[in-house]
Amino acid sequence: MPLDDIVKRVAAAALAAGRAPDAVQLIAVSKVQPLERVVDVLRAGHRIYGENYVQEAAGKWPDLRAEFGPLAVHMIGPLQTNKAKLALDLFDAIHTVDRPSLAEKLARLAQDRGHCPPLFVQVNTGAEPQKAGVLPDAADAFIAAARAMDLPLAGLMCIPPEGEDSAPHFAALAAKAARNGLTGLSMGMSGDFESAIAHGATHVRVGSAIFGARAYPA
Ligand SMILES: *Cc1c(COP(=O)(O)O)cnc(C)c1O
Repeated sequence: MPLDDIVKRVAAAALAAGRAPDAVQLIAVSKVQPLERVVDVLRAGHRIYGENYVQEAAGKWPDLRAEFGPLAVHMIGPLQTNKAKLALDLFDAIHTVDRPSLAEKLARLAQDRGHCPPLFVQVNTGAEPQKAGVLPDAADAFIAAARAMDLPLAGLMCIPPEGEDSAPHFAALAAKAARNGLTGLSMGMSGDFESAIAHGATHVRVGSAIFGARAYPA
């Protein structure tokens, strides 16, 4: 199955970069996929998933967790502030912290619960107007502000501009993380995860290469 292929390619890319194969987590991005495809990948033993939509994840993962036991679901899509509470109930990591209002909301909720999952700051490395993420120039200050709120920052995340070489974006994100003392790097998707691993990715988010093309509802 494609999962085995991707697992092997992730390990090979890590080794080629002089890194341990288990230094890279493969997040299987299951958004908008038919449930039977997700169940196939669960049966094959994979235990780390990514979702983009709080509502969709809420309808799927509580049952799958009950059936398949311990597994991790990461939020990788834009998070509305009014869904932050539900997101903390559902997810084991959030990759898309990208603005002060969301950071403040998460900090308040985390304080109430006495717990917060690992968070990634999304950086809009291409400074694309339509894309989520902190602008590159504002990232250092945003990271410092999030730390001052006691948020558990695990690293940085990016989605490079479509149709551009991702490599310079991966390199820029890695440099920014290192400069800020952050070790996590969530970068690389179906088309470019090997390049991301060569640049130090610790979390690759791979959807269609594992599950097949997504059929969005019309
Ligand atoms: C959908 C999505 C992915 C997976 O994309 P593929 O090209 O199918 O691998 C990865 N990251 C984010 C943020 C996504 O929204």
